[in-house]
Amino acid sequence: MNVGSPSVATSPALCWQCGAEHVATQWATLQVVERVAPEEVKRLVLNWPADLAIEVRACRRCGAPIARKSAAPATSPVEGAAPGRIE
Ligand SMILES: [Zn+2]
Repeated sequence: MNVGSPSVATSPALCWQCGAEHVATQWATLQVVERVAPEEVKRLVLNWPADLAIEVRACRRCGAPIARKSAAPATSPVEGAAPGRIE
């Protein structure tokens, strides 16, 4: 067990329901339930950084929605990066 490696920039996203850990690479593969743009969060939260969005993804183990801050590119919106869009 190698705990405490400082090279990991972001901490794993923990599921509040089942406790499953999702490291950055796993998190990126989870199904996006909802994505809140920084502009929208700023309407609700004072002093919210302009480059920080909120992503809600479904836990890979139990499917519970997990909300997480996510760096949003200030210039280009994520387009074409979402292959399977279900309407
Ligand atoms: Zn879970």
